Amino acid sequence: MEDCIFCKIVDGKIPAAKVYEDVKVISFLDIMPANKGHCLVIPKKHSENLTEMNEDDSASLINAARKIAKALSLSFGNAGFNIIMNNGKEAGQIVNHAHIHIIPRFQKDRLRIKWSHIKYGENEINEYADKIRKFI
Ligand code: AMP
Ligand code: ZN
Repeated sequence: MEDCIFCKIVDGKIPAAKVYEDVKVISFLDIMPANKGHCLVIPKKHSENLTEMNEDDSASLINAARKIAKALSLSFGNAGFNIIMNNGKEAGQIVNHAHIHIIPRFQKDRLRIKWSHIKYGENEINEYADKIRKFI
């Protein structure tokens, strides 16, 4: 993928503050972090999003994210963290190379990731469950 900024990082064509690398995955710091220490974890092989990835590659990505999250948390004295993956433009994905965000959280930081809650109508929750199950 010639124009993909994350493929360029994988190929070493543009610099990144790398924190982890294995055969399938690399992780580096986000240059515009939500909090300092915010890491991105990406597959080396270009895929647009999670559903485009095969089982092996997605398992490697998520397992690497778990390791990095642990290291990130420990590096801040057992801090909490949020893991976020934006898939598709409706979800806020800007870089179209799959990536997982790991964002360290601190007491009284100013980051807000909470959403407001809505309600289902009568039996609507089961209709939604049926609809999703059909595609599994
Ligand atoms: P998303 O909205 O999930 O697509 O997030 C893309 C993220 O990539 C943003 O948080 C950007 O700050 C980050 N980003 C974009 N370019 C670079 C880069 N060259 N190095 C590190 N992070 C980047
Ligand atoms: Zn790419």
